[in-house]
Amino acid sequence: MKGRKIKCPICKKEAGWDHNPFRPFCSERCRLIDLGKWASEDYRIPGEKKDIPDAEQGEKNETEK
Ligand SMILES: [Zn+2]
Repeated sequence: MKGRKIKCPICKKEAGWDHNPFRPFCSERCRLIDLGKWASEDYRIPGEKKDIPDAEQGEKNETEK
């Protein structure tokens, strides 16, 4: 049984499993791409911030100095 091979989930290239510190990716680059994907998904907040309705408009002009 020779070295196992894996398919990089990022670039779909075959890469060796043994002696591969980046598995299941083929290289550090692909690993970072994957990390970036997770990070950017984390960044997304469900329900985007909408513009704040101008509720504080109007009766605030009383006696301000
Ligand atoms: Zn790759």
